[in-house]
Amino acid sequence: MNLPIKYRPIRFDRVVGQSVAVEIAKASLLQSPLQTTFLFVGASGSGKTTLARIMARSLNCTNRQGVEPCNQCDSCQAHLKDNHLAISEINGADKTGVDDVRDIIEKCQLHTLDSKYRVLIIDECHQMSKPAQNAMLKLLEDPPIDTVFLLCTTEEDKLLETIRSRARILRFQTVARDLVAGYLMNIAHHEQIPLTEAEAYRIYEYNQGSIRRCLQTLGTVSQRVTVEDLCPQIAEAKLQTLLLAFEARDYLSIDRTLQELIGDRFYPKHILSALVDYTIAMMTRADTSRNFIVNADKILAVLIPATNKLGSGNNAQTSCRLILYEAAIAWQPMAADRLANQVSDELNQLDRTQVPTSEQLQAQYAPAPMQPQPYQVQIPIPVQLQPEQYVHGQGNRHSVNSYPPQNGGYQNGVQVNQQLPTYQNIHNNGVYQLPIQ
Ligand SMILES: [Zn+2]
Repeated sequence: MNLPIKYRPIRFDRVVGQSVAVEIAKASLLQSPLQTTFLFVGASGSGKTTLARIMARSLNCTNRQGVEPCNQCDSCQAHLKDNHLAISEINGADKTGVDDVRDIIEKCQLHTLDSKYRVLIIDECHQMSKPAQNAMLKLLEDPPIDTVFLLCTTEEDKLLETIRSRARILRFQTVARDLVAGYLMNIAHHEQIPLTEAEAYRIYEYNQGSIRRCLQTLGTVSQRVTVEDLCPQIAEAKLQTLLLAFEARDYLSIDRTLQELIGDRFYPKHILSALVDYTIAMMTRADTSRNFIVNADKILAVLIPATNKLGSGNNAQTSCRLILYEAAIAWQPMAADRLANQVSDELNQLDRTQVPTSEQLQAQYAPAPMQPQPYQVQIPIPVQLQPEQYVHGQGNRHSVNSYPPQNGGYQNGVQVNQQLPTYQNIHNNGVYQLPIQ
């Protein structure tokens, strides 16, 4: 069942979730003179070509209601049956050369007979070669009368700046998941396809919000083929492997895991989104280490903006790999955070309900008591004395500082009463030596 074709909106008011782009398109159709070049920028399946077709029909409708095409007149009917002579749709991926642009230019010169405007819708216009884009630019700078160009691209930055600056740009956003899930539930109900709300969200996540791909998936659901078969979820083990590879800066492991996931039919954007969701889920777990939370914060700062910007073109896989490398570089090795972890763990172990008293803190931080050290004899430097000083005579008996002080003698005017050690070798060659025991 081809649901994308069956449910393709044919009026502005039926386009889902692109109100800004729709309003700009409607307002542009009422302006005079009419803008001749429009650039529709957005992810694959976001509704760019659908809106371009509605605009093309509106421009040529002979019974227009406001800006809405009637979808009944000959012009509208011819376009809906894909045989309108003045409305052409070209895929830029097929028409990449200068000769192709020459064909386009010739087409533009043809008279449009009954139609007011010749409209050229060019899908994937960024895939045209640079010379082809330059030839296209000349056409846009000096467009044939009553010709309108509706260019669609998923990768705006691959277009010449001079083309972009000539065009009115309509940006298509990723449609909100609740809106798409509700839309899928309605269609499933109408088509009698069994679908739970959880399955509708799973289809959205797997297809990255692309309404066209969501409808394709829904159209394939049957008794035999379940949503689970069509939208497999990335195994947590693969996401863990990627996080471990970041920690180890193991680029080979990153490459290998990415290749395996791509081989399992996961889109690069889906892989990054799943990694973001998994990392956030891990951060909120009670047993997650501080090291992980610090690093998760760093890699999310890399992954989230990059995931939002990641297109679905041919280079998405390479871009995805480089984004994963960048995340690995952002992840700080364990050693740098080990100290912070240790401090954090110790802080966590503190019983915060019991604040220690100042006495306890003083006791905790008081210096350790001095331990008695083994006695070491200090050997004084021998003093050279004159032998005659030690000759005790009458005159010395009452001298103020007889040396060495005798028992009963005086030192500094105080009579020495203590029992002095017995000095030996007092006259040992005139050198006084302390008795060392
Ligand atoms: Zn009409």
